[in-house]
Amino acid sequence: MFITHLRVSVIGDGPGVDPDKGGVEPLAIIEVGADGGFTGLSECFRVPPGVVRAVVGGPDTHFGRLLLGQELTHPERLWQVMWDALIHTNRRGWEIMILGALDVAIWDLYGQMLGQPVWKLLGGAQRGPFQSPTGTLPVQVTPYCTIVSDVWGGEAMFTQQVARAVKLAELGYRAVKVEPMFSTPADVIEMARRARAALGPGFPLMVDVGYLFNDVPTGVRVARALEELDIEFFETPFPVDHPEPYARLAAQTRVPLAMGEHGVTRWEFLDMLDRGKCSVMQPYMTTCGGLTEARHIVSLAQGRGAQVCPGNWSTQILGAASVHLAAWSPITPFIEFAAAEVFESPLRSELQQAGFPVQNGRIALPDRPGIGYDLPQDLRQRFRLEM
Ligand SMILES: [Mg+2]
Repeated sequence: MFITHLRVSVIGDGPGVDPDKGGVEPLAIIEVGADGGFTGLSECFRVPPGVVRAVVGGPDTHFGRLLLGQELTHPERLWQVMWDALIHTNRRGWEIMILGALDVAIWDLYGQMLGQPVWKLLGGAQRGPFQSPTGTLPVQVTPYCTIVSDVWGGEAMFTQQVARAVKLAELGYRAVKVEPMFSTPADVIEMARRARAALGPGFPLMVDVGYLFNDVPTGVRVARALEELDIEFFETPFPVDHPEPYARLAAQTRVPLAMGEHGVTRWEFLDMLDRGKCSVMQPYMTTCGGLTEARHIVSLAQGRGAQVCPGNWSTQILGAASVHLAAWSPITPFIEFAAAEVFESPLRSELQQAGFPVQNGRIALPDRPGIGYDLPQDLRQRFRLEM
């Protein structure tokens, strides 16, 4: 099978839906076509669609030149072809995020060609019952729901985030992450305390403060309070550029530290693990450099006593790729999930409905060939953006 075409289209909620309320901003959809009528699909989160269009397309575009006419052997080989072509560029940022999205689409295609779901081609399910949060055989993937609010800090934030957490728990979801952004240290602790009180003991609860602090003592003070609340992990207390403060905090708390949502390439994750001493890695399956790169990140984390919980504040097109990684990875108890039930985005909602169903808070291992996400044709039309 040979790659015959690359196509980019753009979907989004449009200007009427606020991204801070869950609206999907213009999102490039990448398709990699092969002879025989097969098409691999991915989305390209956080890269301006115009940038994607400029480098993904016909034979005169950067990635078109590299991929068109290539035989579809193992995705790792095509990943290497793309990576090697970037030897004189910075090998980070948008170019790797686009490479990663192409890699996911190529895995989708590869699975379709072989008639197997991608997680089986990654190595099959490898977790034992002792590695799953419930101690049962992990034949399913557990999403945790990320919760935000329309306002930050104080009573309004507490009330809205707790209401959303409780609603999702009532819908059957089994883990949530609150996000007390732009808040005082006291409000961060109070947010976690209220969420714990509402959800009850034992319900997996994470806290993300989005790079809120700059000094280690404040981080330690907050982390020590979170220890008492049985927090699954404490995400990005400090700016992400320099992992040293993370290591100093990690030495002073037993709450696991999480980072990696913007990490590109295994080398940045190696830095978070070795210099940052973080124990939860959060690669996005496209941003990090694709499923091919995510597999390397899992290997690095596994040898260092860390976990990999794929990040995803985007749609369930990306979420489908996370499910495959989690199905295979022996060190992935959770994947991130922006549940459409608590946001105001019609597109987010429809993309979730088209994705793998969450039943009783769990996602069954997919059995369709490839990634197995079908983007409905009429949805593409209705949410299509001309840009
Ligand atoms: Mg985050």
